[in-house]
Amino acid sequence: MTDEDHISTRTVSSLPNELLVAIAAAGQGCGSDFLEWTLSHVSRRFRDVVVGAPTLWTLIEADFYDWGSVEILKLYLERSRRCKISLTLRNPSSEDFRLLTLTRLGQIIPHIERCWKLVILLSADSIVEVLAPFRDVEAPHLQHLDLEVITDYPNDECIEIFSAGAPRLSFLKMDGLKLQLPPSPSWMASLTHLEVLEHWVSDYSNLLAAMTAQCPLLVHLHLDILWEFEETSRFHIPSLKFLQISVPDSEDEFFLEAIVDLFDTPALEEFIIYGTHGDQIFTLFNLTSLPHSSFPALTSFSFINKASCSCEKDIPFSSSISAPPLALFPALSSLTLVNQCLTHNLVKDLLGPSSQPWPRLETVTLCPKKDHFDAVWDAVKDAVHSKSQRREPFPRLRFFRTLASLEAWQGNEPDVEMFL
Ligand SMILES: [Zn+2]
Repeated sequence: MTDEDHISTRTVSSLPNELLVAIAAAGQGCGSDFLEWTLSHVSRRFRDVVVGAPTLWTLIEADFYDWGSVEILKLYLERSRRCKISLTLRNPSSEDFRLLTLTRLGQIIPHIERCWKLVILLSADSIVEVLAPFRDVEAPHLQHLDLEVITDYPNDECIEIFSAGAPRLSFLKMDGLKLQLPPSPSWMASLTHLEVLEHWVSDYSNLLAAMTAQCPLLVHLHLDILWEFEETSRFHIPSLKFLQISVPDSEDEFFLEAIVDLFDTPALEEFIIYGTHGDQIFTLFNLTSLPHSSFPALTSFSFINKASCSCEKDIPFSSSISAPPLALFPALSSLTLVNQCLTHNLVKDLLGPSSQPWPRLETVTLCPKKDHFDAVWDAVKDAVHSKSQRREPFPRLRFFRTLASLEAWQGNEPDVEMFL
């Protein structure tokens, strides 16, 4: 042992107990895995201090197929005593582990009443049976519930969970499974965030529309579902600020406006739509009104598609945007087009030489498909040139050449940024 090692070991050993607990707690906060576990094995004194601090054992994760992980789970449940806990439980594998999962999940039930966050990741097999112990239980402190099922096919089995109530629930995510709707009325009172993903069962959009109408605080909604177009499928959510949806591929140019018209969400500020095509955006922007919906507060609108799209070859694209600028979206200040087919036509029509001024539009973000990069860049140069000649305002332009992922446009710096 060198002098330096000797000094640092002594320094750590002489730390007061409160500081030790604070260090372990800080480690939890920044996602350092199992720091409390490591510290409890350093020395006798560390062990006593760390084991005696129940708040250090409240972020609990377990893999149900791993015996060691389940043993650690038991220890955490015991050491966290009466503190509120966050539980992440995983069993992504199939049938072989079903009985094991059933028995092991059973151990959780007595602790549900002090759980504030519950994440369960399961394989599609027998989810109804595996989640049955949670069905009639109340979760009085639960704020965050995330249920994810790994599945390749639509699952039509209906899940009932916490039917005795979850009065503090604010975050609900259901990925790949069908929850019995409506849930206990107590679920809806404080719900602010709802995600329903990978949901391709019919009749569900009506049930979701009815449910969200009962959520007075809902601000964030993300839906990846099968759409229905009846009066009962419309979403009336006066409080909603953020909406993300997916539209299926291979639909006609009127499909997008039909979906957008399903939302009666007058306070909406940010709208992201996946799966759109250029002709659909065109049709939408050419409208002056929709039969039912209006978007007076919408400031940010994003359209995102997959990297490959074969529709451009077949679409005769000669019309231009004829509606008054931003007729449907009068407050729009940010427009984003990611991997969107016909982006160069959209740029030409929205910003080009014959376009009308859009004074509220401050930022345009473009991430063109690789093959269309030059065409889009040419359209941008034309637009900038004509606007500057006419001394008309031009939005701040953020241009991405390549994208590592579809989400990259959200956090990354653009390759070119232009101000006039
Ligand atoms: Zn397309």
